[in-house]
Amino acid sequence: MDVLVKTLQDLGITDVRLQEPMANHTTWKIGGPADLYVSLCTRHQLRDAINIFKINDVPWTVIGRGSNTLVSDRGIRGAVIKLEDEFDELHVDGTVVRVGAAYSFIKLSVMIAKHGLTGLEFAGGIPGTVGGAVYMNAGAHGSDIAQVLREAELLLASGEFVTISKAELNFSYRHSKLQEEPAIVLAATFDLQVGDRKRIAADMASFKERRQRTQPWQQPCAGSVFRNPPGDHAARLIEVGGLKGLAVGGAQISPIHANFIVNTGGARARDVLDLIALVQDKVAEQFGVRLHPEVLVLGE
Ligand SMILES: Cc1cc2nc3c(=O)[nH]c(=O)nc-3n(C[C@H](O)[C@H](O)[C@H](O)COP(=O)(O)OP(=O)(O)OC[C@H]3O[C@@H](n4cnc5c(N)ncnc54)[C@H](O)[C@@H]3O)c2cc1C
Repeated sequence: MDVLVKTLQDLGITDVRLQEPMANHTTWKIGGPADLYVSLCTRHQLRDAINIFKINDVPWTVIGRGSNTLVSDRGIRGAVIKLEDEFDELHVDGTVVRVGAAYSFIKLSVMIAKHGLTGLEFAGGIPGTVGGAVYMNAGAHGSDIAQVLREAELLLASGEFVTISKAELNFSYRHSKLQEEPAIVLAATFDLQVGDRKRIAADMASFKERRQRTQPWQQPCAGSVFRNPPGDHAARLIEVGGLKGLAVGGAQISPIHANFIVNTGGARARDVLDLIALVQDKVAEQFGVRLHPEVLVLGE
């Protein structure tokens, strides 16, 4: 591992960490150590690092804000890549917006509103990065990434830089093609529209008020844990099933929002996984519906 660290440092990559606790990089504040954690600032650094990982047979994964991710207690074998600097830039050209994958999705929503553009109001309460939002087809309030994205710039596992259209990303509910064919999102271009500034501000304020009222903002969590089953809401099934407040270790079904699991302090990934399994079984028993997680599990 020391040779690998030295090779990366020789490429000018300064932020290389060993045994980095992933609890520091997830909104759940849960997760064991990653063998290797690197912050990469340019496309060249990224391509070089991927190449080095390939040569040395080191598995790698990219993380955004870790706001939809449960990292296991044993942590991640291989490398975790965090994008920074060049990947954190925003360019607005009329109604066309090109933004780096590391850019905050919430900040993007706010900046776009300041330009009087409409289309990304829904992003105002989604605490991830643009890269994570494209990967997940993040959405809320009746909209999602697929409604506004024009194209995404990617680095493929082969080391090739490509730009692919929205159609090629095969978006559906919380799904993109990137979930089957791994690639790194470098930047995204959105087609927005000129909007009414007062209307945009009012919609964003109303979305924010609703979230603050209905979601446990004060506690570490990862948003909705389960995907909504067709024609229903996971939160409704969990709440009607009387499971609000149910806890395993430090993980609890939020008393405020039934589809959120909160870390009440010292929760382990094992607690969350056990609670997820318990909810799946109880909901299946009562309603005959098997809930499927929306959150992603990374690590050993
Ligand atoms: C309080 C709260 C509220 C939330 N509300 C919503 C909501 O309303 N709607 C919604 O859709 N989600 C919501 N979420 C979930 C989450 O914010 C989104 O799924 C978000 O898009 C994840 O982005 P991230 O950068 O944190 O991704 P991460 O959790 O870091 O990663 C998620 C996946 O994306 C991949 N990924 C990340 N960056 C890249 C990249 N550059 N290239 C390729 N792959 C990448 C990762 O490898 C991982 O597989 C909420 C979460 C919280 C904590």
